[in-house]
Amino acid sequence: MTTFKDLGLAEPLLKALTAKGYEIPTPIQTQAIPAAMTGRDILGVAQTGTGKTAAFALPILHRLAADRKPAPRRGCRVLVLSPTRELASQIAENFRAYGKLLNISVTVVFGGAKMSTQVRALAPGVDVLVATPGRLIDHIGQKTCFLGETEILVLDEADQMLDLGFFRPIRQIVGYMPKKRHNLFFSATMPPEIAKLAAELLDKPVEVSVTPQATTVEKVDQRVIFVEAGKKRPLLAELFADPAFNRVIVFTRTKHGADRVADYLEKVGVEAAAIHGDKRQGQRERALADFKAGKVRALVATDIASRGIDVDAVSHVVNFELPMTPEAYVHRIGRTARAGAGGSAVSLCADDERLLLKAIQKTTRQTLPAVDRRSDKSLVAPPSQPRNQGGDVEQKLAQPKAREHRRERRPEGGGQPHRNRNGGGGNKGAGQAQTPRWDPMAGERRPDGVADTRPIRQPAAAPAGAGAPRSFKPSQGRRP
Ligand code: AMP
Repeated sequence: MTTFKDLGLAEPLLKALTAKGYEIPTPIQTQAIPAAMTGRDILGVAQTGTGKTAAFALPILHRLAADRKPAPRRGCRVLVLSPTRELASQIAENFRAYGKLLNISVTVVFGGAKMSTQVRALAPGVDVLVATPGRLIDHIGQKTCFLGETEILVLDEADQMLDLGFFRPIRQIVGYMPKKRHNLFFSATMPPEIAKLAAELLDKPVEVSVTPQATTVEKVDQRVIFVEAGKKRPLLAELFADPAFNRVIVFTRTKHGADRVADYLEKVGVEAAAIHGDKRQGQRERALADFKAGKVRALVATDIASRGIDVDAVSHVVNFELPMTPEAYVHRIGRTARAGAGGSAVSLCADDERLLLKAIQKTTRQTLPAVDRRSDKSLVAPPSQPRNQGGDVEQKLAQPKAREHRRERRPEGGGQPHRNRNGGGGNKGAGQAQTPRWDPMAGERRPDGVADTRPIRQPAAAPAGAGAPRSFKPSQGRRP
């Protein structure tokens, strides 16, 4: 088995890795580090959770250590472009941690934070600058940042850059950089637009790819609960009555929805914080810090805000609403299976979300164990009967309502709230923390005898894609 030492990384990097407890490189690191150390451009297909940050940070730090020189004034030797502020902060943290014995300067600039502080940090020049595209363009426009001597460019999460409309700013930024430079380009998926950008930016790249989705998907215990849209919030409160739900990311589709769910959870006694694009940077950082420190049990997030969030030991991911794409589902559940750990994901599926569920099951090539809470009636066969005789579930799964799901709203976009966000939760869940211990996901009969939500077995009907190996290939197209 390859170790970090075998990869030939500089001693101070090896020491920093040992201090972090990392010995064995992840597959993306084994592939990317040696090639990047020789100066080859890299085209990596990998998502967060695979160790991709270290896959580019380590060879870059190795190269900086081997070729020490002062950073250009108001410029940087390495530019890392990141789609979100949270991811930018995390990348900078990683560079600092791995480079802590190398005396490397790292600065991060993103929107929502004070320009003047960033201008001061950039003035003397920095070794590594991590930036979101919009704010970097502001600095370039104000002549507080020059890229004319930048040697290395990293573009991280290119697919999300595309989603956020950052391709024009990226092309503009690259236009300010020297033509001859070292490029490292990462994306979770490689649809044609991204392949085109990669072809423009990279010079004979070494292609590296991992398919973490398969491992992530398989490592996470996944369940679906069919529930009326209006009953989702009390059900969520029930889930939180289980102390095992101790560090939970709850996903909503909209910013407004995230606020409402967080408020509701607070009302029923569950410490919660919302994180989304309308929150001020300080609020986002505080929410994330409180969640990491265990001060809040629930972080309620939109997809975009959550991308790249690296929090260890997330016990559960709850999809309060199903995401619009299977890729987003895989990203979401990957928050609970970080770096080899397992985790649980529970998806609350209303009737009009069944098509989304179908797309997820098709793409991930699995059928998720389902329970039906719409009628508050257990669909689990009595203990004397085999559990896989849940015929009515099969029937229900086989005959989804033919109602078309309308795509009314992009995550974090403008427009009307999702039509099913009726929020009819009431305060049924209040005082849940005092209810007797009941694990809604483990199939115990509830103390009040109401509904047993024991997961039922897979329906016999073959899922789409059955027969193929249980692996999930990154989508080749943009969106289903
Ligand atoms: P990333 O994909 O860069 O977001 O990394 C996912 C998580 O894995 C982060 O918490 C990293 O610190 C951690 N990690 C990265 N490389 C390794 C490694 N070789 N061994 C153990 N953990 C790692």
